[in-house]
Amino acid sequence: MSKVTFPQDHFANRHIGLNDSDIQSMLDVLGYESLDHLTDTVIPASIADDAALNLKPALSEEQALAELKQLAAQNKVLKSLIGQGYYGTHTPKVIQRNVLENPAWYTAYTPYQPEISQGRLEVLFYFQTMVTELTGMDIANASLLDESTAAGEALTLAHRALRGKRNRCLVSKNCHPQTLEVLRTRATPLGIELVEFDETSPAESWDDTFGVIVQYPDTYGTVTELTDLCNTAHENGALVIMASDLLALTLLKSPGELGADIVIGNSQRFGVPLGFGGPHAGFFAVRDQFKRSMPGRLVGQSIDVHGNPAYRLALQTREQHIRREKATSNICTAQALLAIMATLYACYHGPTRLRSTAQRVNQLANTLRDECKAFGIQTNEVVFDTVTLYDVKAADIVSAAVKQGINLNQRSDNTVSISLDETCEEADVVSLLNILGSSKQSLDMASTAEDRWLRSDTYMTQDVFHKYHSETEMMRYLRRLSDKDIALDRAMIALGSCTMKLNAASEMTPVTWPEFSNIHPFAPHDQTLGYQKMIAQLEEMLCACTGYDAMSLQPNAGSQGEYAGLLAIKAFHEANGDQQRNICLIPSSAHGTNPASAQMANMQVVVVKCDERGNVDLIDLQAKIDANPAQIAAIMITYPSTHGVFEEDVTKVCEAVHQAGGQVYIDGANLNALVGVAQPGKFGGDVSHLNLHKTFCIPHGGGGPGVGPVGVRSHLAPFLPKDEHNTERTGALISGAPFGSASILPISWMYIRMMGARGLRKATQCAILSANYMAHELKANYPILFTGNAELVAHECIIDTRPMKDHGVSVDDIAKRLIDYGFHAPTMSFPVPGTLMIEPTESESRAELDRFCRAMQGIFNEYTAVKNGDVPIDNSVLSNAPHTMDFVLQDNLDVPYSRLAACHPDPESDYSVKYWPPVGRIDNVYGDKNLICSCPSMSEYEASE
Ligand SMILES: *Cc1c(COP(=O)(O)O)cnc(C)c1O
Repeated sequence: MSKVTFPQDHFANRHIGLNDSDIQSMLDVLGYESLDHLTDTVIPASIADDAALNLKPALSEEQALAELKQLAAQNKVLKSLIGQGYYGTHTPKVIQRNVLENPAWYTAYTPYQPEISQGRLEVLFYFQTMVTELTGMDIANASLLDESTAAGEALTLAHRALRGKRNRCLVSKNCHPQTLEVLRTRATPLGIELVEFDETSPAESWDDTFGVIVQYPDTYGTVTELTDLCNTAHENGALVIMASDLLALTLLKSPGELGADIVIGNSQRFGVPLGFGGPHAGFFAVRDQFKRSMPGRLVGQSIDVHGNPAYRLALQTREQHIRREKATSNICTAQALLAIMATLYACYHGPTRLRSTAQRVNQLANTLRDECKAFGIQTNEVVFDTVTLYDVKAADIVSAAVKQGINLNQRSDNTVSISLDETCEEADVVSLLNILGSSKQSLDMASTAEDRWLRSDTYMTQDVFHKYHSETEMMRYLRRLSDKDIALDRAMIALGSCTMKLNAASEMTPVTWPEFSNIHPFAPHDQTLGYQKMIAQLEEMLCACTGYDAMSLQPNAGSQGEYAGLLAIKAFHEANGDQQRNICLIPSSAHGTNPASAQMANMQVVVVKCDERGNVDLIDLQAKIDANPAQIAAIMITYPSTHGVFEEDVTKVCEAVHQAGGQVYIDGANLNALVGVAQPGKFGGDVSHLNLHKTFCIPHGGGGPGVGPVGVRSHLAPFLPKDEHNTERTGALISGAPFGSASILPISWMYIRMMGARGLRKATQCAILSANYMAHELKANYPILFTGNAELVAHECIIDTRPMKDHGVSVDDIAKRLIDYGFHAPTMSFPVPGTLMIEPTESESRAELDRFCRAMQGIFNEYTAVKNGDVPIDNSVLSNAPHTMDFVLQDNLDVPYSRLAACHPDPESDYSVKYWPPVGRIDNVYGDKNLICSCPSMSEYEASE
C-alpha cells in the first residue's frame, strides 16, 4: 500500500504535525506497514468505509481564502439599527489584536486545571463582578451561550426553585421574539405552561405561577414601572426573571433595585462583533439563595497551598459530570472568550466612560423620539436606546432606510423599531429623520432619561475597571494575563474527548473580516447571501463527512446539539403517534451532557451497563429494551466510545434499538477518529451532534465558543431546529440566532475546504496513529485500560493511574507535576475516576509526543522512588507540584530534592523559556466553603476593614 503524500502547498502538510518519515517510524514501532494497514486493523469491518468523501478537491490556503472572500463579498454590510438583542459596537483594537486574534487566548481550554489558567480565570472572575455590579444581583456565572438560552435556563431554575410544585410562568409579550420562542422550546417538553401577558396591565391570575419573565428595557425600547410587578409576584410566591442590557444598566436602575430574582442577558454590545448572531456571551445573575442551582460555570476565589489567593471553578458538583441527569443544566462549553472580550472592554473604558457612552446613546434616541413626535409620528416613551414608531408605513420606511445604508427593524405592517448604539453619531439621527420625511439638517440634542429611571448608586469601583485605560497599560495587562496560562501556543494539550488540535491562522483569518463580523442576525435575506451560501456549503460538507442527509448549524454547543437531536427524535415519535416512547438508554460511560440533555427533553434515562472491556453490555442492553420495548425512544452512544475504543458490536447495538422502534443517537464528539474512515449516518446512527470546536478546528477559547451542529437522516430532517431561511425545518428553536455562532463557521469551512477528502482521511489516520504510538510508549509504566481489536485504541487512550494511589500518588499529583514539565494535564477522571485520558490529535509533531512521553516517564520514576521508600510522598516533587518560582527560589527551601529537579525535571527539554505556574496547588474545598465569586466593591471593602 502506498504512502499518502501531498503536493507541497497542500494544507494537510501544515495541519498534520507528523512528516512521512515520522509516520513510517511510528508505524514501524507498532508493526504496521502503512496508515491504511493500521486503519483496516483498528476499524471494525462492519463500519469501515474507505470510499473518498464527496468533497471538492482541496484548495491551498491562499486559494481557499480567495474563494471564501468571494462568498463574503456577497454579504452587504449596512449599518444595522435592528436591535432586538444585537447592537453595533466598536471592538477596541487592542482587544481584537491581543485577544480575539491571539492564540494565547483563543486556543486555551476550559480552566479545569486552574493552576495553568489563572489569566483567563481572573478575567472571568471580573466578568462575574461586572455582571453582578450592573445587574444589582449577588452572584453571576462566567457566561452562558446566548440571551435566549439564558432565559430558558432561568425558566427552569425558577421552576425547580419551587420544587416543580407550580407549573405556570407569565411571560411578557414585550420580550425579544427569539427569547419567547426559545422559552417555548424549553417549556414544552417539561409541561410548563407559558402565559403571555403585558406588564402594563395587571396579571389576570397568579394561581400555580412560579415565575414571571420581563424584558427591561423591553424589545420595543420601553420601560414600565416594574417595582410593583416584582412586589406582586413576590406576594404571590413567584420569582421575577428580568432580561436586561448591560449598557442600559450603566444608566438605569438595576434590576436588583427593582426587585428581580434572576437577571439574564447578553454582553455582545461590550465590544463583541455582531457576527450574524454569535458567538456572544450570555450572562446569568441571581440572588444569593439560588447560587447552588445556577447553571453554567462559576469562577471562585480560593487559596493555594502557600496561602495566596487563586482562582478556580467553584461548586462543580452542580455540573453534569457529577450530577448527570440531576444536574442543574446540560451546559458544558459556554462563551469564555467572548465573556473575556466584554470584560476587557469594560476594563478599558471604565464605568465613567461606559456611562457617558450610554448617556450619548440615550440622548440620541431621545432626540430622535422628540423630532419624530414634532412632525406627527407616534412613538414609545423611550427610556434607553430604542425608538418604536407606530402607525407608519413600515415597509416603505424600512426600504427607504436600506437605500441609505441603514437597516431598521420592521415589527409589523405599521410598526418600526430603531435601536441606536455606540457607533451612532448625530449625523445618523439626521439621516434617519430625513428618511422619515423631515428636512432637518441639524439637531437640538434632547436630555437623557428622567431621573426616576436612573440609578444613583456607584458601580464597578474595583481597581481593575480603573487601571487599564491607556493602551500601553491594557496591552501589558493582556500580556501578563496570557503569560500565566498554558494554551496550545505553548504545548500539546492532550485532552481526551476534547480534540485540542491546530486552529490554523488561515482558518481564523476570515472571522474578523467585516463582511462576516458586521452582519446583524436579523438583517434582510438579500444582504446575507454570502453567509447563506457559506453555511449551505458547510452543511453539505459536514453531511459528506458523516453520511447524514441534513445538518443544522443552529446549536451553539455540543450540549445544545444533543438537546436539538433529542427533540427531533421526540417530535418524530409524536408524529408517528408514539407519544409513549420516552425512555432514553444511556451507557454508564456516557459524557455528563447526555443524561442532562435527555432530562431536559423530559425523557426517562435508563442506564445501560458496560462490560469489563468498557463496551456496551449487549445482554444488559437487550434486557433494558425487553423490559419496555414500546417505550424506547432512543439510545445515546458515543462512537468511538468514551473509552477511546472502536466497539466491534456497534452495529448490533444500533440494530437492537431499531428493532424495538427506537432511534439511535450517536454522540459525535469523537468524530476525529471517524472522518474519512467510517460514517455514523451510514453505520446505524439516525442523528448525531458534532463538535466543530473539537474535530473541525474551531478553537476552544478557554471554555467556548463552540458550535454543535446536529446531523440527521432524512426521516428526521423536518424536525431540525426551525430557521426562516429553510422553511422545511419545523423543529423547535434552539438558539436565539438562526445560525447560532455563525461568525466562527468560516473556521470549519476553511478547514474542510483546505484538507479535502484525502487530507481529512489522513488526519484521522494520523490521530489514530499518534494515540496508538503514545499508548505503546506509555504502557510499560501505565496500563492502557481499554483496547479494541489487536490491542489497539482509537484516537485516545485511558491510562490507569489508580494503582499508584496505593503508594500515595494520586492522579492529581500526576496532573500537577506535568505542569512542572510544561504540560497541561490530559483529561482527568473522565470517564473513569482516577485515570487520565490522552488524546494527542494529528496536529502534534513526533518531537512533542516524545516530550510528553518523557515527562510521563520522569513522573513514573519519581513515583517509583516513592514506592520503593526512597523518598516519602509528603514533601516529594509530586506532592509539592506544581512548583512556583517563589517557592523554588526561597532561601531556606526545605525539600529533599534539588531546585533543578523541582522546576527543570526533563534535561532534554529547553527550559530557557520555562513555563512558571503563577500559583501553587489550589485548595478546592476551601474555595467552596468560603465562596467568593466577585471582587468586593470599594464600599464593601471599606466596611469590612
Ligand atoms: C465535549 C463533549 C460533549 C459536549 O459538548 P459541549 O460543546 O461542551 O457542550 C458531549 N459529549 C462528549 C462525548 C463530549 O466529549
